[in-house]
Amino acid sequence: MIQPLILDGKAAAKVIRAELARRVAELEVRGVKPGLRILLVGSDPASQVYVSSKEKASAGIGVSACVERLPESASFADVAGVIESWNRDPAVHGFIVQLPLPRGIDAYAVLKLVSPARDVDGLSPASLGALASGRPGFMPATPLGIIELLWRNGITVSGKRVVVVGRGELVGRPLASMLLLHGERGDATVTVCHSRTPDLGAVCRTAEILVVAVGRARLVTGAMVSEGVVVVDAGTNSIDGRLVGDVDFATVAPRAAAITPVPGGVGPMTVAMLLANTVKAAEQAAGKREL
Ligand code: NAP
Repeated sequence: MIQPLILDGKAAAKVIRAELARRVAELEVRGVKPGLRILLVGSDPASQVYVSSKEKASAGIGVSACVERLPESASFADVAGVIESWNRDPAVHGFIVQLPLPRGIDAYAVLKLVSPARDVDGLSPASLGALASGRPGFMPATPLGIIELLWRNGITVSGKRVVVVGRGELVGRPLASMLLLHGERGDATVTVCHSRTPDLGAVCRTAEILVVAVGRARLVTGAMVSEGVVVVDAGTNSIDGRLVGDVDFATVAPRAAAITPVPGGVGPMTVAMLLANTVKAAEQAAGKREL
């Protein structure tokens, strides 16, 4: 039995926020206050929690975050109106549309309106298309956070066999594109699995690094991984009021070289990367250095 390294996203996110706070202070000296806007449509309870944690984290590093709330009954035109005003407002360096949107509002059509220069969630078709073609602008926060968490723990993906379970638009699919980018944070050999993958365990056992982003509690068990694997669990599932991941920690951790906890792994990194993208957008708008 191995004692795995715990990939502590909470601790890494704290360090990142401190680094970002210093960059925000530098911007403030130059008269720039990074501005983030969040559009929340409807009253999805999980979205309310996510939005308030984004607001709180922003305030903690000196980013000015404002939430615009629209009712469940809002029309596409109402949503489009807010986005178009933010695309033009010089005080807004970045903005996000909190997903999911209420049924009846086409998220793809909404995200198409987001200016790539302010798309700090990296989820607009333009940003995702750029990423898929290897010319990324802003990249989605969760997969960015996964790569950052590995990097900060001295785990490189370059040249490794990485298996990604899940091809969702928020995590698995953009992560696979990032892992294929040229450079030291990419250059992985990537396999992507999904609900139609036969013998998921056999594929997972080929992984040196395994990332699971499905949304099924404890889908991946110890018998499905090889000894010494690095495991990242992006899954969030509520079981009897407790947050559990897609990985069965109890059976997988004893076989892993490193593993993320749930909670406290990928989740905190997601918020930190949203802030990183926002600070980067403000620096770019201020004509400052690239990240
Ligand atoms: P999604 O869009 O619903 O995608 C889920 C993927 O899992 C799909 O590709 C699906 O396959 C695949 N899948 C479903 N059942 C499977 C099975 N039995 N075996 C293998 N693959 C299976 O989900 P998502 O938005 O990417 O999110 C995935 C998870 O990450 C969720 O738990 C979500 O809450 C979590 N998440 C966490 C954060 C964070 O900050 N921690 C952020 C975003 C998302 P098909 O494509 O074939 O249907």
